Amino acid sequence: MDCGSVRALINRFIDGELGYVETAEFQQHLDFCPDCSEELRELCELRGALAAWSGVRLAPPPGFADRVMAAVQRQPQPGSPRPLGEVVDGALARVDEVLGRVRLPHGRTIPVKNLLGWALAVVALVIGLGRRRGRDATQARTP
Ligand SMILES: [Zn+2]
Repeated sequence: MDCGSVRALINRFIDGELGYVETAEFQQHLDFCPDCSEELRELCELRGALAAWSGVRLAPPPGFADRVMAAVQRQPQPGSPRPLGEVVDGALARVDEVLGRVRLPHGRTIPVKNLLGWALAVVALVIGLGRRRGRDATQARTP
């Protein structure tokens, strides 16, 4: 029996599936081949480690099943209305896709929708200040 034959039969040898003659030839090869002997030793070691690992029982962290069930129940059923937050997030994402981003110095970018939001805030502030100034002027004129 040569090294290739031994390597092909090595798992069956470990599992005790070889016949008497094959086992004898296999062991006869191991007597003079340190490479195949080492391969057999390593494979036995690996299989022993895997067998030990299969005995390990991993327990989920406390409350894991409850958190999973709560997450499942939070998922909207098909055909049911989506939560408002999801609708707003989706709409803003689509606005981002349509408007794109503006390049800033140093390679940074900012969404155009953010610039529009800031512009609207500035306009609202200017309008508010204008109304306040007009109200103050009206009060100053009344005796
Ligand atoms: Zn060999």
